[in-house]
Amino acid sequence: MSKSTPSTATVVGSGPNGLAAALVLARAGVEVTVVEAEATAGGGLRSSTDDHGVRHDHCATTFPLAQASPFFREFGSALAGHGLEFATAPVDAVHVLDATRSASLLTSVADTAAGLPGKDGRLWHASFGPLADRADQVTDEFLRPILHLPRHPLLFAGFGVQAGLPASWSWRRFRSPEARALLAGIMAHAFTPLHLPGSSAAGTMLTVAGHAHGWPVAVGGSQSVADAMLAELTALGGSVVTGERITDLSQVTDADAVLLDTSVEDAARILGDRVPDRIARTWRRFRRGPAVAKVDYTVEGGIPWSSPDARRAATVHLGGTADRVAAAEKDCWQGRLPRRPFTLVGQPWLADPSRTVTHGGRQLNPVWAYAHVPAGWTGTAQETFDLVTSQIEDAAPGFRDHVVDWSASDPAGVQATGRNNTGGDISGGANDLVQLLARPRLLRPYDTGVPGVYLCSSSTAPGGGVHFMCGMKAADRCCPGAGDGR
Ligand SMILES: Cc1cc2nc3c(=O)[nH]c(=O)nc-3n(C[C@H](O)[C@H](O)[C@H](O)COP(=O)(O)OP(=O)(O)OC[C@H]3O[C@@H](n4cnc5c(N)ncnc54)[C@H](O)[C@@H]3O)c2cc1C
Repeated sequence: MSKSTPSTATVVGSGPNGLAAALVLARAGVEVTVVEAEATAGGGLRSSTDDHGVRHDHCATTFPLAQASPFFREFGSALAGHGLEFATAPVDAVHVLDATRSASLLTSVADTAAGLPGKDGRLWHASFGPLADRADQVTDEFLRPILHLPRHPLLFAGFGVQAGLPASWSWRRFRSPEARALLAGIMAHAFTPLHLPGSSAAGTMLTVAGHAHGWPVAVGGSQSVADAMLAELTALGGSVVTGERITDLSQVTDADAVLLDTSVEDAARILGDRVPDRIARTWRRFRRGPAVAKVDYTVEGGIPWSSPDARRAATVHLGGTADRVAAAEKDCWQGRLPRRPFTLVGQPWLADPSRTVTHGGRQLNPVWAYAHVPAGWTGTAQETFDLVTSQIEDAAPGFRDHVVDWSASDPAGVQATGRNNTGGDISGGANDLVQLLARPRLLRPYDTGVPGVYLCSSSTAPGGGVHFMCGMKAADRCCPGAGDGR
């Protein structure tokens, strides 16, 4: 290993970041092999079909950041050539406060603003309109390690100030409970206490990207994203081996370079004593965030939401007012199961009607839902089902009667679905201010200290979510100039 420009590379893991790294390297002329532990490639992009013929997404189901990503600007048309399509629902996301109040995020900033009470509409427009107009430049600057020379210094500073605020300061600019709750729900995607500095970062990015590209689903399910990436990899001469778990670097020493789309914990195990002490110490200090408890439902018809907008939204946020969302997120962070955990519900068929299946004369749909829970929370399948279902039932009385089938995963089950989701943390590591800046290290975040071996999973900058940029930036570090060269 350790040539400055590799001729061959092995990527361990085929999640969106592993596949992005593989594509970037293959396009630069490197001979790439991807080695995946699971039987099916795709990591967090996998979907599978249940006994009723309904297709469920194992992990990611909505893609607010995918099309906004610099990676997608490079590879989007190639992936579209392999059949990848995104689709949005009439409402991108809705936050349900209670039986009578909700607030909606729409792709159009103006339409979102028009739905907010009083002066909050104008304030929403002023807060997000200018950033949404420059969404590509925002993602250019922020979907990468924070420590870099900005191309757009004023934008960098402006967005940086907004993203660096505690989320609770961001939503207190608004007067109405609706606007506050909408923003709090989006910011809760960070899985951090919402009074901490930096807790606005993920939500501000999701809002800006949403106003540029919507919060779409992949037509046919998330596996379509992986399948298009795999088809492009094959077209570029790369190959994939599935069903092979790498436990030691000696299994992959044939290649000039190795990129690990693994958790930090797995990378430490695979590399063992080869990792220099200074890096091993930083990795040991790397912290995990709270977890999720997930339920996949097969439902007949739709969900009987009280909120009309929720009946048209691909994503529904449940958690009540901004303050209640904040209290629930703080509970999770501190290891307590909240009475009403923040819960997300995906209704992909409202964006992609091909997800509806007619079975035995019934119209069946896949509902994807998870609640934020403390790391280490354990629950039986029935307890997990009850926890998530009661949140939905509160906002959609009678929901249980629509459920035809379900399967539930507590945090240990979520880790069993994807081995990078250590302890049920789906973000690749906690998103506190320190780890927003140093992920997993401030300088050279993709280096492992072992010559020719790089980390490329969501435990590296810029972190969790399907945006492909951990993979693209690690590939760029491994093969200078192969990515965007910055
Ligand atoms: C329940 C859930 C819901 C989510 N919802 C969304 C969403 O709606 N939108 C969104 O943008 N993001 C979502 N995410 C987050 C998103 O899925 C992740 O951020 C993303 O998949 C991370 O990509 P990755 O390539 O870093 O890792 P992963 O997607 O986890 O892929 C890593 C791959 O590497 C393989 N691997 C790991 N170790 C080894 C080894 N030692 N040997 C061989 N193979 C190995 C794994 O099997 C896996 O296939 C969700 C995640 C979960 C779990």
